[in-house]
Amino acid sequence: MTIFDELESSVQSYARSFPCVFHRAKDEYLFDEQGRAYLDFLSGAGTLNYGHNNDIFKKALLEYIQEDGITHGLDMHTHAKEAFLESFNQHILQPRALEYRLQFTGPTGTNTVEAAIKLARKVTGRNNIISFTNGFHGVTLGALSATGNSHHRQASGVSLSGNTRMPFDGYMGDGIDTTQYLEKVLNDASSGVDLPAAVIVETVQGEGGINAASFDWLRSLETLCHRHDILLIVDDIQAGCGRTGTFFSFEGAGIKPDMVTLSKSISGYGLPLALLLLRPDLDQWSPAEHNGTFRGNNIAFVTAKAAIDSYWQDDRLAQNIQYKSHLIKNRLEKLAEHYGEGQFKAKGRGMFQGISCVTGELASKISQNAFTKGLIIETSGADSEVLKCLCPLTISTESLNKGLDILEQAMREVLVKIDQIPEQKQYLDYDIAS
Ligand SMILES: *Cc1c(COP(=O)(O)O)cnc(C)c1O
Repeated sequence: MTIFDELESSVQSYARSFPCVFHRAKDEYLFDEQGRAYLDFLSGAGTLNYGHNNDIFKKALLEYIQEDGITHGLDMHTHAKEAFLESFNQHILQPRALEYRLQFTGPTGTNTVEAAIKLARKVTGRNNIISFTNGFHGVTLGALSATGNSHHRQASGVSLSGNTRMPFDGYMGDGIDTTQYLEKVLNDASSGVDLPAAVIVETVQGEGGINAASFDWLRSLETLCHRHDILLIVDDIQAGCGRTGTFFSFEGAGIKPDMVTLSKSISGYGLPLALLLLRPDLDQWSPAEHNGTFRGNNIAFVTAKAAIDSYWQDDRLAQNIQYKSHLIKNRLEKLAEHYGEGQFKAKGRGMFQGISCVTGELASKISQNAFTKGLIIETSGADSEVLKCLCPLTISTESLNKGLDILEQAMREVLVKIDQIPEQKQYLDYDIAS
């Protein structure tokens, strides 16, 4: 029995999917205690967009620690915070003509979602929040009310109130604009849906199964929010920081949310940091009305600034993401066609893509088999039916192709084993047949 079985809570989850003891990590690779390498297509669920222990960030971090830079300062002004704010303003907000104030919340994603919901209620004086089917916003009570997944919801032990669920884009099938339903219930005084303080939405649902909302749908949602004077909160915790191809995932849609939540990859280094962007006039907090001990993590400010300065001053990374996105899309679509006969479906946008296997059982078998071949790839979705290709954005083309090759090998083997395809079935990618 390992110390993990003996002492660590049964709540562990990723540890069950990838049962080994990891020891080191570099760029797109994780290494276990025996030194075996694993390609990382999980990337801390979107926290390691720039890979593990990125050399540039590591250097900045080591220098800061060496100089006895502030590690913890509550929300006091520090040089590290100042430098981060300046970089964020100069390279992220200003070039996009976005005007936001930054609120540093507690260090995890769910903390910033709580702050957004609380502020929306305070500012509007309304209680209801609209969220969407298959949405995931975190597991503390406020954020959990907006989360769809029943496994997570049932653990709350209290009623999760103040929330109305609406169908996400595509939920009712192709060709149905679900914002029309939302419009209808908001116009109907007898619909039973209270005028909400805010709508909270992911542009691409990560945990919900890589469901990408169309830009048209996002624009309709924004128009609707404006018409009814509802605040629009984009939860960009997983889809942001370049994952879909642009720094913010909503840039392509041309919308301007009233609030934006960021966490996961904002520090760039896997250090906890979460922030809420809010329209300046919404900043109606009184001092310490919402607080927390770990608001703004100074060592995370150092790496977050390094990430912005090294990857977002020009469009090289964005272009590189475009290139790799096409590569992934092309491969996943061909895989689906070659092995699928209607069973598999490629989904997502940018480097936020996956392949739906219809059943969680099949997706899990493929994930497990891939792990034995040195690829870490997790599932998401209502039935965990979608294999998520969440490799670092900075992955080399060579490693990316290698990971996709392993994915194909793992898929093919499982399908042969369950007699879904004949042993003789050719590989899609001839190179890996050997
Ligand atoms: C991960 C995630 C959260 C919650 O973040 P935690 O750091 O786990 O609290 C919220 N929203 C989205 C979209 C996420 O992907």
